[in-house]
Amino acid sequence: MTEPKRKTALAFMAHPDDAEFLCAGTLVRLAEDGWSVHIATCTAGDCGTTTETPWSIAATRTEEARKAAALIGAEYHCLGERDALVVYDKPTLQRAYDLFRRVAPTLVFTHAPKDYMMDHEVASLLARAGSFIYGAPNASAVPLAEGSQVPYLYYCDPVEGVDPLGRPVEPTTLVDVTAQLDKKTEMLACHASQREWLRAHHGTDEYLDAMRRWVAARGELAGTAAAEAFVQHRGHAYPRDDLLTERFGAGGGKTRL
Ligand SMILES: [Zn+2]
Repeated sequence: MTEPKRKTALAFMAHPDDAEFLCAGTLVRLAEDGWSVHIATCTAGDCGTTTETPWSIAATRTEEARKAAALIGAEYHCLGERDALVVYDKPTLQRAYDLFRRVAPTLVFTHAPKDYMMDHEVASLLARAGSFIYGAPNASAVPLAEGSQVPYLYYCDPVEGVDPLGRPVEPTTLVDVTAQLDKKTEMLACHASQREWLRAHHGTDEYLDAMRRWVAARGELAGTAAAEAFVQHRGHAYPRDDLLTERFGAGGGKTRL
């Protein structure tokens, strides 16, 4: 296995709570394994309310995301884009390159290239662009950290595991997160502003229940109680060996922990 010397993981997502839903169990495993973990979102989720102003809910959700990240010693970053307005343009790309340059990740998680919401798709493109170019000296004015490289890149599940045409996405990689489920749940529960309105609306704790149902469904595929699923990016210049399966694989992977 060719594990990078610099063990820095970055989840680059669209909104606060996306990482907690889609890859936090794996981030917990990485943190337990000595990786330095960063969670970044393009927006502070300023549309995630029915009663507050964008500025007030953005402040609340930034703090919720920071708390969730802190539970595993991770650092939270926000690119400062507006909710539902994440676009692929020069200023946004440059901010993404600068963020990648500061974090210098060797392992990156992002949204599926095709997902139910455009912010997710654009965040996925930004993560792909940033991961490919951040190590090029002229891509950013931020100093280049030692160990910067084209990172391992994994796409999380699209919401409900289907693309926008309803076609199921087949994972390349399943990570057993059974032992990390309590911590993942605790991280998701930090997003109280989102959990509360869903609870009021559904009359049940749908926010946490939806996540539990999904990791259980992916766990069935992996032969474990709970799993997170990914598709690995294997294009030109990217590492093609499946680091996550080799390190944490479930369902036939060489589980080492
Ligand atoms: Zn989202």
